[in-house]
Amino acid sequence: MDFKESPQATLFYLHMLKLPGLIDPHVHLREPGAIHKEDWDSGTCAALAGGFTMLLAMPNTQPPILDGASLELALLAARGKARCDYAQFVGAGAGNADAAARLAPKAATLKMYLDQTYGELRLDDMSLWHAHFEMYPREFPIVVHAEGRNMAAAILFAAIYDRPVHVAHISLKEEILLIKAARQHGIKITCEVTPHHLFLTTPFPVLGEKEAGRTSRRMEVRPRLATQMDVDALWNNLDVIDCFATDHAPHTLAEKDSTNPPPGFPGLETALPLLLTAVDRRRLTVDDLIQKMVVNPRRIFGLPEQSETWIEIDEDAKYTIKAADLFTRCGWTPFEGWPVRGRLRRVVLRGVTAFEDGKILVKKGFGRNVRG
Ligand SMILES: [Zn+2]
Repeated sequence: MDFKESPQATLFYLHMLKLPGLIDPHVHLREPGAIHKEDWDSGTCAALAGGFTMLLAMPNTQPPILDGASLELALLAARGKARCDYAQFVGAGAGNADAAARLAPKAATLKMYLDQTYGELRLDDMSLWHAHFEMYPREFPIVVHAEGRNMAAAILFAAIYDRPVHVAHISLKEEILLIKAARQHGIKITCEVTPHHLFLTTPFPVLGEKEAGRTSRRMEVRPRLATQMDVDALWNNLDVIDCFATDHAPHTLAEKDSTNPPPGFPGLETALPLLLTAVDRRRLTVDDLIQKMVVNPRRIFGLPEQSETWIEIDEDAKYTIKAADLFTRCGWTPFEGWPVRGRLRRVVLRGVTAFEDGKILVKKGFGRNVRG
């Protein structure tokens, strides 16, 4: 099926919904370096089980992806293990603007960390931003992790250098309103929001003191969960949101329950059922899903069309999200016990059934590098 001319959902038999394969532009696969949390095998199984046929992998691995050698290390693992299609980000470091720009044809695009995150890629000094904005090829957006006033600074850089910038995981009312205003002034800004920032708020409701401590550690994520007012602002400005991205950031349950929990949630397998449930509740339309999970990420990141690729969903199936059913290696989900409506039945990738009724049917290495 060709979705190029007019991307659309097809109702093809009783309450079965057929959509194009989904694209997740923001995923942490933890390989190289921390494969006890996730690797290119378990992470791409989770992607297929969540309806994603293509993902863009973030560069804050160990080592971080900053040059040709580290990029090759990640792509070597991907070539051997990936089961869905992919591309790998390069990270913006203090002295690699030239090297990163030269790697652009092989990379998803450039990721700049302007705020605290997991790993060591944060660029504190604004004087380090210039070289990247100057040198990275303008046909690719620079993706920024930039919260609040750092986001305002990144938007100023987009205006000064007149180049596309994509803001990762926005979570606040002040952020979405600023992006809306910047865009009205012709600044080349796009943005994404995660399901957890659409469906979870702080304070997270919990029972009892012991449970409260554990839950607050598990709920560590960057950007932090926001208030109901912020969440409402995201829902009220859906037209400003270009993409839904999971920011799948797996850490094991033991790590999350430790005294120094790393920030991040798994999300590849819960995004689609949560968003389909929102469609069922008339908060979104199926066309919103197609625009924000296929059409816009493809356009913004300049990704190729995947021929003969689609997913089939039983719209009426109701079930409860359980970590025990997930392919991610991390072993938990912040949405444990949530009732959802809409179950993924089948994923066809490049003409091959890659997932059907809970089973992964393609081998390691089936996935292709879309920048290869
Ligand atoms: Zn991330």
